[in-house]
Amino acid sequence: MKITRVEALYLRLPEVKEQCDSGQDVLIVRVHTDAGIIGIGEVDSSPLAAKGAIEGPFSHTITSGLGALLIGEDPFEIERLWYKMYEQNIYSGRRGIAIHAMSGIDMALWDIKGKALGLPVWKLLGGGFHKKIRCYASNLFGPTPAATRDLAMKFRDLGFDAVKFGWQPLGESEKKDIALVSAAREGLGDDCDLMIDAGLVYDAKTAIQRARAFSDYKIFWLEEPLHPDNYEGYRRLSEATDVRIAAGEEESSRLSYLELMDKGKIDIVQVDLARCGGFTEAMKIASLAWDRGLPVANHGFTTYINVAAALHWLNAIPNALICEYVAQTNTSLRDMLTRQDFVFEDGYLRMPEAPGLGIDLIEETVNKLRVS
Ligand SMILES: [Mg+2]
Repeated sequence: MKITRVEALYLRLPEVKEQCDSGQDVLIVRVHTDAGIIGIGEVDSSPLAAKGAIEGPFSHTITSGLGALLIGEDPFEIERLWYKMYEQNIYSGRRGIAIHAMSGIDMALWDIKGKALGLPVWKLLGGGFHKKIRCYASNLFGPTPAATRDLAMKFRDLGFDAVKFGWQPLGESEKKDIALVSAAREGLGDDCDLMIDAGLVYDAKTAIQRARAFSDYKIFWLEEPLHPDNYEGYRRLSEATDVRIAAGEEESSRLSYLELMDKGKIDIVQVDLARCGGFTEAMKIASLAWDRGLPVANHGFTTYINVAAALHWLNAIPNALICEYVAQTNTSLRDMLTRQDFVFEDGYLRMPEAPGLGIDLIEETVNKLRVS
């Protein structure tokens, strides 16, 4: 089998609001083969920059459009192709957009392999750790503590026993921060895990103070309280509190994760399959985390393509902790984009069993929302 074409499709809702929701547009990768099998993947990045990284022409032996490097190649040789893309983007790649773009291509290559062999990706990766995996409802804070409490009650009633709230208005003041976390706990009751995503708003000392204050409300983890490059701050915070510190969603390539784990001393490693370099890189990140005794969780706030990828990956590693599942309902793109082979039941997601990723694009939506 040979790769014949690599496409990047940019879909966007007619109105994209200025809010913390990465589910309003999406960059989808489609890799075509001469066998008629088409693999799909997703890139979570600056969409048109990543599209350029994929569809751009060959320019130089160490900086090339990624798709151009794959034409005529065997889509089963994924590890080799990953390094081909990496090495031929040595100054334009290595971190950030080029790795994000490679993530979508890598996902699509695994999808092709699974479809060709009739196996789910988790089985190709050697997995089978779970029949179903616990997931948490991932959501933004309400604009007020009372609104946050109402949201918490709603998620508990939907069957979740783990819920995350994040980003604004956290960080406005100590009083408001504590009121928001207190209200979330009140809405969830005592038997539900509560995760807090600070969304990069603190410095190290403030984060230490908040971790202490939030521990009165039994938070399960405190996510991304600091700027991602502040490794020294992460280390000071981790050493100063019993609250688990989670981070990693801003990273691409395992080398950045090594910094977070070894310098930053984080407790929970969060990996976005649509940013980190795809399955090929995520398996290595999980392995590096396992070596350090650290649990991992996926990150994903975009589409069900990313959720499906996360499920396959989490099912193929020994240190999977929990699955992030977006419970935000103010965008229609996620629900109209795909049909998927996994089921949410009582706070758990059942593992996909269909070949490949187990995801089909709804072509009508693709045609309607595609802008380039
Ligand atoms: Mg986050």
